[in-house]
Amino acid sequence: MSRDFTLAAYARLLESIKANGYKVCRVREAITESSNKLFILRHDVDRKPQNALATAQLQADLGLMGTYYFRIVPESFQPQFIEGIARLGHEIGYHYEDLSLCKGDTKAAIEHFESSLERLRSFAPVDTVCMHGSPMTKWDNRDIWKHYNYRDFGIIAEPYFDFDFSTIYYLTDTGRRWDGAKVSVRDSVSQAFNFSVHSTQELIEAINAGKAPDKILQNIHPERWTDRPIEWAWEATKSAIKNPTKQALKYLRK
Ligand SMILES: [Zn+2]
Repeated sequence: MSRDFTLAAYARLLESIKANGYKVCRVREAITESSNKLFILRHDVDRKPQNALATAQLQADLGLMGTYYFRIVPESFQPQFIEGIARLGHEIGYHYEDLSLCKGDTKAAIEHFESSLERLRSFAPVDTVCMHGSPMTKWDNRDIWKHYNYRDFGIIAEPYFDFDFSTIYYLTDTGRRWDGAKVSVRDSVSQAFNFSVHSTQELIEAINAGKAPDKILQNIHPERWTDRPIEWAWEATKSAIKNPTKQALKYLRK
């Protein structure tokens, strides 16, 4: 069996999405898109933006456009990759974590949000934002919106708040598998679907058989997807160590 979570595996997934009549779009368009079959390409660039550029190039070669959310921290915020991905036609968004960076101080956090957004906008237009899970901190970055409104900052959507997850299936590679929502501390939404697959091959087979949901929000972390064997082995090892830790954290917080 071939390795999963490689760019080659991801390319096969995208081919099956295209072949099965899904309209592929960015988050920005998804808000008003009315197609019956929809596949929204969202990417959280937590680290290794060079890998994000590789998935962005792969998608552009297939004529597909998605949204790439960048964090403000140095392991993500690298302008040459932000600009490179934007140049290919993809949407750039802000992957905010201001509340945890400011240790729960809401006033400092909103100022940090505004200045970070401004910095990101100096490299590309930004219309949408989505929160970074910060699994190892006690703050939920979404809580900042209990005090402020992102629309006041020219933001038209935050997927966690503006998508209806009773009609859109949330497909995430969290835990480096497609059924890993149970190992995620925060990066999960309540699922109204009775659909679950583990590997990319199973997902492709479900799509080809017409058994996958009609509307899907893909959320992938491009740092996990690589064709390079040593990097691939390292990512696999890290997930094997981190998943039990995250499960324990989730259990403790209940
Ligand atoms: Zn993240």
